[in-house]
Amino acid sequence: MSDCCEASVRAPRQAPCPITGTSGTRVRRQTVKAILKDSSLRCLRPATYYFCPESTCDVVYFSQQGELYSKHDVRTTVWQKEPVGDRLLCYCFGENEQTIASEIEATGTSLAFDRVAEHVRLGRCACDIRNPRGVCCLGDLKAAVTRLQADRSHA
Ligand SMILES: [Zn+2]
Repeated sequence: MSDCCEASVRAPRQAPCPITGTSGTRVRRQTVKAILKDSSLRCLRPATYYFCPESTCDVVYFSQQGELYSKHDVRTTVWQKEPVGDRLLCYCFGENEQTIASEIEATGTSLAFDRVAEHVRLGRCACDIRNPRGVCCLGDLKAAVTRLQADRSHA
């Protein structure tokens, strides 16, 4: 019997987005089910789904059998597909580019990564059902803090 929340282990980890050809990463079906709006969820077919990270592409999830879900089909914003500046990066604890930039402006640095890392350590995150990519946001947060700090020092 198959587990309806798991991607097939035989499916490849990466597959090209049918619209842009960008390499998408396999996501657990539980993530897709948690993120899709009910109107889209009602039509969800059992397939292996991939996340398209391309900023210029509206596709959020696709399967190799032709299923496509765009950013209009999901319950949250997908930061990879939003304009830089005020994007929500941590879906569990609400860290976003605007508050991180303000913190850097006020104190010279941002502790967003440390705050979230502490929550993760204490078992409080739910990235698999809140982050559209279905993975921990810490890597993205670290990159964003580094980028925003560099932006400020060059301003
Ligand atoms: Zn795409």
